[in-house]
Amino acid sequence: MRTVTIVGASLAGLYAARALRSQGFDGRLVVIGAERHRPYDRPPLSKDFLAREPGEPAAEAGALALSDAEEEAELAAEWLLGTPAVGLDAAGRAVLLADGRRIVTDGVVIATGAVPRTLPGPPLNGVQTLRTLDDALALRAELHAGARQVVVIGGGFIGAEVASTCAGLGADVTIVEAVPLPLVPQLGLEMAEFCARLHADHRVRLLCGTGVKALRADAGEPRVTGVELADGRLLAADAVIVGIGVRPATDWLAPSPVALRDGVRCDEGGVSTLPQVVAAGDVARYGELRAEHWTSATEQPAVAVRNLLAGTTVARHTDPPYFWSDQYGSRIQLAGHRGPKDTVRIIEGGPEEGSLLAVYERDGELTAAFAVNRPRPFMRLRRRLSAGRPAAPAVPADGPAGAPAAVRGATP
Ligand code: FAD
Ligand code: NAP
Repeated sequence: MRTVTIVGASLAGLYAARALRSQGFDGRLVVIGAERHRPYDRPPLSKDFLAREPGEPAAEAGALALSDAEEEAELAAEWLLGTPAVGLDAAGRAVLLADGRRIVTDGVVIATGAVPRTLPGPPLNGVQTLRTLDDALALRAELHAGARQVVVIGGGFIGAEVASTCAGLGADVTIVEAVPLPLVPQLGLEMAEFCARLHADHRVRLLCGTGVKALRADAGEPRVTGVELADGRLLAADAVIVGIGVRPATDWLAPSPVALRDGVRCDEGGVSTLPQVVAAGDVARYGELRAEHWTSATEQPAVAVRNLLAGTTVARHTDPPYFWSDQYGSRIQLAGHRGPKDTVRIIEGGPEEGSLLAVYERDGELTAAFAVNRPRPFMRLRRRLSAGRPAAPAVPADGPAGAPAAVRGATP
C-alpha cells in the first residue's frame, strides 16, 4: 500500500493515523475532514466546556485538541480539512471531495462518525443539536447570554448531560422524552430509574411518554419561544437542545461500493465488504454491534488498520463496549453486553448512598457492570469482562448496604 486515505478527521480518524504509523505504514497518508478543526475531543462539549465562560475561540479549540504539533509532524499526514468527502468510487480506490478533488488511494479508513437526528420543520434560532465544537460554541453563547428556560428534547446521554450542565448554570430545565423512561435499552429498568431520579434530585423536570408536536415562534419571528407537546402542553423556551439520537454518517457514500446496514457493515475486524476499505468508530457496525462510545472509537482503529495492512482479517475487536457519563456531579459507567433479559444485582452501595456498583447476569454469568461513583471496583469488573472471566462476583451475605430487598443476598 502506497497511499491510505482516512475519511473523518476526529477521534477514530486520528487513532487510525496513529495506528498506521505505529504499525509501520510509511507511505502517503491523507486525512479528510468535513470540519475545519483538527481532531478535538467531544465529551467535554456537553459537560465542563459548556459550563465555562466563553473565551477566545482559537484557544478554546486548542484546549480540546487531541494531538499537538509535535505529534502531527511525526504522523506526516496531509490534512485536508473543511472539505467533506462526497463519494468513494466503485472499486474503493478513489475518494471524491466536495471541492472536486479526487484522491487516488490503495486503502481507505472510513471514520466519519455520526450525525444528530433532527426534528422535522423549518430551522429556528435558539434550537440546535450538539455534536460539534461549533454547535457547543453556539449553545454556550445562548446560555451565557441569559437563556433561562431551557427545553431539552430527548433524555438520552446528550439530553441528560446538557440538562445537568444547564441546571448547574442556573437555568430552569425541562427534558421531554418520548419513551416512558430514558436509558432503559442501555441500562435496564432499575438502573434507568436510578438515573431518572438524578434529574428530579437536581430540580430538572423530566416529562416522559410524550413527543414534540411543534416548535413555536412568534408570528414572522425566527426565534423559538416554546415547545408544544403531543399531549397539548406548551413549554416556554429561550433555548431548545435536540438530543434524539444520531445516525451513522454514510450519506456521502451513496451509491455505496461497500455494504451498509445502520453504518458500514464490517466483520469483527472492521473490514467492510471490500478488503481495502475498513471502518472504525461511530460509523462502523462490527458484526451485530455499532457502538457510539469514545472508547470503541479509540480501540477499533488499531484492529481495522492491522487488517487493512494485512489485506485480510487477521485480528478482531473483542473488548466489550464501555462508556462513562458525567451528570450532576456523578460519574456513571457501564461496560459489557447487557441483554434485555439479564438480571441486575447491586453488589456495593445503593441508590440511597448516591453511589453503587451493580452487575448484570445471565445464567449466573457476568454480562455487564454498572457503577455510579465507584470507579475503582468498576474498573476491576471491566477488566474481568475484557479478560473473558464471566463468573458473577459474590456479595456479602447480608447484601450491600442500602440495596433494595429484591437485590439483596443470593449469590450464585
Ligand atoms: P466523530 O467524533 O463523530 O467524528 C467523525 C468526523 O468525521 C467528524 O469530524 C465529522 O465532521 C467527519 N465527517 C463526517 N462526514 C464526513 C465526510 N463525508 N467527509 C469528511 N469528514 C466527515 N462517549 C463516551 O463514551 N463518553 C462520553 O462522556 C461522551 N460524551 C459525548 C459528548 C458529546 C457532546 C458527544 C457529541 C459525544 C460524546 N460521546 C461520549 C461519544 C463520543 O464522542 C463518540 O463516540 C466519538 O466522538 C466517536 O468518534 P468518531 O471519530 O467515530 O466520530
Ligand atoms: P441517545 O442516547 O440515543 O438518546 C436519544 C433519546 O431521545 C432516546 O431516549 C430516544 O428515545 C429519545 N427520542 C428520540 N426521538 C425523540 C423525540 N422525537 N422526542 C423526544 N425524545 C426522543 O442519543 P443522544 O442523547 O442524542 O446522543 C447522541 C450521541 O452522542 C450518541 O451516540 C451518544 O452515545 C453520544 N453521547 C454519549 C455520551 C456518553 O456516553 N456519556 C454523552 C453524550 C453523547 P428512543 O430510544 O425511543 O428513540
